[in-house]
Amino acid sequence: MLSLSEKVLKAVSAAIGKPSEQVLLHSPYFPPSTYADVKSCIDTGWVSSAGAFVTELESAVCEIVGCKHAIATVNGTTALQVALYSSGVTAGDEVLIPSLTFVATANAVRHQGAIPHFVDVSPDRMGMSSSALRERLIEIAHKSNNNTKNRLTGRRIAAICPMHCFGIPCEIDEIVAIADNFKIPVVEDCAESLGSYYKGTHTGRFGMVSAFSFNGNKILTTGGGGAICTDNDSVAALSRHVTTTGKLPHQWEFEHDRVAWNYRMPNINAALGIGQLKEFPLILQKKAAVFDSYARAFNDLDEVEIRKPPRDCVSNNWLISLILESPDIALRDEILALLNSSHYQSRPLWKPMHSLSMNSDCPHGPLPTTEALYKQVIALPSSPSLSQHN
Ligand SMILES: *Cc1c(COP(=O)(O)O)cnc(C)c1O
Repeated sequence: MLSLSEKVLKAVSAAIGKPSEQVLLHSPYFPPSTYADVKSCIDTGWVSSAGAFVTELESAVCEIVGCKHAIATVNGTTALQVALYSSGVTAGDEVLIPSLTFVATANAVRHQGAIPHFVDVSPDRMGMSSSALRERLIEIAHKSNNNTKNRLTGRRIAAICPMHCFGIPCEIDEIVAIADNFKIPVVEDCAESLGSYYKGTHTGRFGMVSAFSFNGNKILTTGGGGAICTDNDSVAALSRHVTTTGKLPHQWEFEHDRVAWNYRMPNINAALGIGQLKEFPLILQKKAAVFDSYARAFNDLDEVEIRKPPRDCVSNNWLISLILESPDIALRDEILALLNSSHYQSRPLWKPMHSLSMNSDCPHGPLPTTEALYKQVIALPSSPSLSQHN
């Protein structure tokens, strides 16, 4: 009889084929037009922090997301940091974020001088739980005329920053409704959710502002890159201003009105992403086909399940993942060891943020679902190219 990890290995190879070399967790898909785009960028000499490809990328992102403004940045972490800045987060504030997220969410808060305050996630979506958020706010929040404070720490709660985990949208409409009630702006971490929709609306359109990532392992890549998206004209103008060193417009004078950043995406990086943006529907289609192959291959296994997004949303299937029936870190690691030694790069969820030593003094609510999912979930190779196996 096969052990559970052997059954998982068999199902993975039925889904995506038997590799002769390492299958990466997520490798990029570059349409053939990419080569001409990158060459033309080099030929024009405009490779740095301005140029036509950046403008083209920003309008393509606006079109996909359905937002009014997109500001391209050097990466998703800086996009998130500036989104927090532009929504009014300042040093000494608290920002509510999920503990179950990539470290960049917490780092962006800290780079802003603010303190992350961790909230639990929902078991079906793995993103911030609206009920955990509500309970935590009822417990700690003190509302006054123009802001909400944490009664226990005395600090202002300046933003709520949910994340759409692996491309599955979180309960974002509920979260925004709760946040509105407490007059707290919502900044969406959409690093993983380009192409994901919640109740028919693209993620990143629910809060005041959102941040996307185009890192090498994301669904769409510019090598390194990110974008700030918003419908709010003043948030957009401020974000653009502070990502370009806070320089005031003038034909020759260098005048800057604040300590700001050089965070704009270089044109050469934008050139790398244009082809993918044009073929984004095809990339989403390929990802959905990979998901379907896994769903079929794992159909008969009772002890593990492929995570299916709830019916009210469309996931971009960024990382397709397995969930064990119950939390079992030894079993999780046994499966991870077998998959990784059999050429299938696979990963657990991130170690929860509240358990990292640098965050040990950060406040948090109860985190039972975070702790459980960490011991239950395995991300499988999910590259669009794996659809060719079908
Ligand atoms: C990738 C990622 C980021 C940061 O993006 P970079 O482009 O790598 O800086 C932020 N949050 C989440 C949840 C991510 O997955």
